[in-house]
Amino acid sequence: MSTQRTNAIRESSKRKTRSFVEQIRRSELFGSHVFNEDKMVQYLTRDAYESVKNAIFTGSKIDRKMADQIAESMKAWALSMGATHYTHWFQPLTGATAEKHDAFFDLMPNGRALEKFGGGQLVQQEPDASSFPSGGIRNTFEARGYTAWDPSSPAFIYGATLCIPTIFVSYTGEALDNKAPLLRALHAVDQAATGVARYFDKSVNKVMATLGWEQEYFLIDKALASSRPDLVLTGRTLVGQAAAKGQQLDDHYFGVIPRRALNFMKDLEVECTKLGIPVKTRHNEVAPNQFELAPVFEEANLAVDHNLLLMDVMEKVADRHDLKVLFHEKPFAGINGSGKHNNWSLATDTGVNLLSPGSTPMKNLQFLTFFVNTIKAVDTYEELLRASIASATNDHRLGANEAPPAIFSIFIGEQLSAVLDELEGVSQGKLSPEEKTELKLNVVGKIPEILLDNTDRNRTSPFAFTGNKFEMRGVGAKMNCAKPMTVLNTIVARQLIEFKKEVDKLIEKKKLKKDEAIFNVLREYIKASKRIRFDGDGYSENWQKEAAKRKLSNNKTTPEALEIVVAKASVDLFRDMQVMSEVEVKARHEVDLETYILQTQIEGRVFNELVNTQIIPAAIAYQNKVISNIKGIKEIYGSGFQKHAEAQLSILEEISGHLAATRKKSEAMTEARKKANAEKDIRKKANAYCHEVRPYFEDIRYHCDKLEQLVDDQDWPLAKYRELLFIR
Ligand code: ADP
Ligand code: MG
Repeated sequence: MSTQRTNAIRESSKRKTRSFVEQIRRSELFGSHVFNEDKMVQYLTRDAYESVKNAIFTGSKIDRKMADQIAESMKAWALSMGATHYTHWFQPLTGATAEKHDAFFDLMPNGRALEKFGGGQLVQQEPDASSFPSGGIRNTFEARGYTAWDPSSPAFIYGATLCIPTIFVSYTGEALDNKAPLLRALHAVDQAATGVARYFDKSVNKVMATLGWEQEYFLIDKALASSRPDLVLTGRTLVGQAAAKGQQLDDHYFGVIPRRALNFMKDLEVECTKLGIPVKTRHNEVAPNQFELAPVFEEANLAVDHNLLLMDVMEKVADRHDLKVLFHEKPFAGINGSGKHNNWSLATDTGVNLLSPGSTPMKNLQFLTFFVNTIKAVDTYEELLRASIASATNDHRLGANEAPPAIFSIFIGEQLSAVLDELEGVSQGKLSPEEKTELKLNVVGKIPEILLDNTDRNRTSPFAFTGNKFEMRGVGAKMNCAKPMTVLNTIVARQLIEFKKEVDKLIEKKKLKKDEAIFNVLREYIKASKRIRFDGDGYSENWQKEAAKRKLSNNKTTPEALEIVVAKASVDLFRDMQVMSEVEVKARHEVDLETYILQTQIEGRVFNELVNTQIIPAAIAYQNKVISNIKGIKEIYGSGFQKHAEAQLSILEEISGHLAATRKKSEAMTEARKKANAEKDIRKKANAYCHEVRPYFEDIRYHCDKLEQLVDDQDWPLAKYRELLFIR
């Protein structure tokens, strides 16, 4: 048998479970490696503490003298924790996080050594950033970009390094990362939502977007994972016949967590707890060896940072347990892929969830206001929201009847739909006292009860209301949540600004009471945004047809989906909301297309390599065995040998057929790649990869998987699905 595969199987089946025992209570451990509120109180002067708090609350700048003080205290704390280095931790457009470590250690001119870290180092750094994607913003000759401290996400110690969350911008001020636009979007939604929330409660001074993500992933034995070049280089299996047993028995979901995985999870959760990531639930997912982890929700910027940090911690901890984590959206064909639901809401500084109904009619009207405005925002910008989750890897999942379709729609359930239907009938202009009473008692007043038993959930919907939050379900497992969160918060901010303008106008010009004005505007929004509401089966073919009638977008591939990002309406939106300039929007579009091209190109190359150096040789080796067998039979039986070699001959024929097809298709794919590569225009190039190159992948795979079923198991070089997914 192929030594690579044999060794991997041998190694994986000899594994001893690395047991893990928790020593310290989690509540005690929580945030021990974070320069959080507690540490700030302990280490900072009162002035410095106030200035950080102020920066977090209002976004105000921290002056240099204060920064020096803060840096000094942070350093003292970090050194006391055993840190030796510090780094500006940032989110380049590659999707991962980046860091460049500098030692605290420094030499004075007189040769004396000391630990140095001042305000300058805290506030700003200039990493040599010429290799990060910028979409043409930063020419390489002026490769300077700088990272700047984001005080709203606390510094933390990871390994022996003090990590300072930062934004990453070009020398001319354009964002080169995913965090800067997110922070701007969060600021926009804060301002817009605070304005509207103050209709209901004057004491509101700030609104935070909240995010609770749910991370799905696969855990595979490390030796087996690294024996497959496709998993190593592309994150997914390009070939592989489905195991005889997949997820059809539904015996994995919420089942007993395998021991090795459980020990990994415990270890991971302890690491997360130290880092202040509030992990809470863990369970098996639908597919074999697939799991999910979810935290308690947090302010969105922090939640995004925590998700990125989590993915990094997961990889490191998995390694200790001889496991490999797969974040790819579709690592295995034929079984479910992995997503990352984004649960989103808005919360006031007075502690109120704006998407949660309350105990009084006014609080319920507040709920309805934010609820309906979100629906309206998603209706207006559904295509842009779809674009925010587009990627080569996520294309495998969206619309594959395991994740939501590529069509955006909103599920709110029968009862809330009934409420909105009633509100559509609200009178124009002033409301009679009877109508007001009726609304308060029987429509708005009933909402809390409705939500209490709002148990009907529609798993096929990409954007579902789940009682006190919306859940965006199409986000890919590998993705940085900052992208969809930037778009969602921007469009809701824009919508709330429109809303407030319209309500204020009705109050001033038509002399309506505040609640009358709100009812009037909401009525129009409910009517206008009806097409986005859909409670039926999102996987059904009927919905595809119905959605087309409703003129909802249905962009199935990334190059198509990304088009809307550079449409005038989107550019205007981002610019008006001060989230991204036109230059930034266009640069991102280019980076996203480029990433799509590169990922597809790499898959194509790996495919060729697998086919030519592993699969074809294995098939030929087996073919030779069959041939010598047939020769032997002929030797014995002479001219009538065919009768005795019927099976062998038909196997031979099948192998030759699939061999020829594999070879032909992979050559054609290479030709298509060459043609695509010659394309100068990036859009055309992405489309060529999408429509000319990618379709070959399925074709080639089909024949390879047939060969896997024919060739002697001993001769097959690649770890099989049953080994990858069922060896624990
Ligand atoms: P599920 O969707 O699996 O049924 P839950 O409804 O309990 O699970 O919540 C899923 C996620 O929603 C959790 O990660 C939780 O932190 C998050 N969540 C709950 N409330 C909010 C909120 N107000 N804002 C954002 N996320 C929230
Ligand atoms: Mg969920």
